Amino acid sequence: MDIRNCSNCGKIYAYDGFNTCTQCRKDEEKAFKRVKDYLYKNPGAAISEVSEETDVESKKIIEFLRQGRLEIKDENNIILGCERCEAPIRTGRFCERCMIEMQKEFKMSIGGGKEPKDIASGDFKERIRIAERYRKR
Ligand SMILES: [Zn+2]
Ligand SMILES: [Zn+2]
Repeated sequence: MDIRNCSNCGKIYAYDGFNTCTQCRKDEEKAFKRVKDYLYKNPGAAISEVSEETDVESKKIIEFLRQGRLEIKDENNIILGCERCEAPIRTGRFCERCMIEMQKEFKMSIGGGKEPKDIASGDFKERIRIAERYRKR
């Protein structure tokens, strides 16, 4: 059995492919639910407000956003920046333009060079408030 220290609480646990122990993962799931429920009722709430009301660290909320599990609805409530060009984004790690550019570069590099128009018509155009992309656990 592979025994490791939980990267969150430091306790030892039987490693099963995750960096945190089962208890921490349960806690995180609960925290995620609270944040999600709060955002359903209060769309466009500021992170600080969400953090206060749900008792979840803003760091954690930002992590959920980075993972693409939550999405900011209010355009004025931008707290994330694209990791490539630093443009404000609502979810994930890169802005739409960079995603398209990177896709283009990728396609060029494999010799295709086709227009990536299909990318823009995907999830990005959907104005959904909360994107749930659960990893199977
Ligand atoms: Zn833990
Ligand atoms: Zn960008």
